[in-house]
Amino acid sequence: MSPRPKRRRILSEPPSVSGFVPESGDYSSAAGDTVVLHFEEYEAIKLADYEQLTQLEASKRMHVSRPTFTRIYDSARKKVAKAFIENKRISIEGGHVAFDADWYRCENCGSVFKRKSGKKAGHCPVCGGDNVIPLQQAVNNFSEKVRGAGRGGGRFRGGRGVAGFCICPKCDERVEHAAGVPCGSLLCPHCNIRMVREDSEHYQYILNKRKK
Ligand SMILES: [Zn+2]
Ligand SMILES: [Zn+2]
Repeated sequence: MSPRPKRRRILSEPPSVSGFVPESGDYSSAAGDTVVLHFEEYEAIKLADYEQLTQLEASKRMHVSRPTFTRIYDSARKKVAKAFIENKRISIEGGHVAFDADWYRCENCGSVFKRKSGKKAGHCPVCGGDNVIPLQQAVNNFSEKVRGAGRGGGRFRGGRGVAGFCICPKCDERVEHAAGVPCGSLLCPHCNIRMVREDSEHYQYILNKRKK
């Protein structure tokens, strides 16, 4: 009997962070030393531990069976525990998931934005680049390739400390950064683009790429 094809787990939205690094410099940034937390594993922890849903409720949200949810959740917790105890980076990527179809990512500047589904991806609203792909495709690409190449997100260090501002990479709308709320979880109300930390490497990178 051939194995049943795995169904994609549904995520309401992509994680707003690309990963975590230990506070002390005493960790290896080598690829093999990074814990790769799949998108569905991140979602499982978010639903069960952060939103405190029961496993049954959480499994329904992700459109998987209860035993499947439990398996994903167990795997997620083991990985996070390993990273905590062994002082490893966590990188959130890959996995077998489906996003709402209206999320896109620019491969040139790494901006992530929402656009009405059904519309063509078109040009990046921030840098004008034409290498814009559905976030779904970005995830699929990753699953097929080895980690690293072709990734728009996750290459940058974020802002430092708890103070500062979140800023829209296109229109420079600024809001004060709230502790515990990643800038990436905010969408610019004018542009529907994910905000970034003003003092982050990614914002500097975007400014260099942004169309004048
Ligand atoms: Zn762009
Ligand atoms: Zn904006």
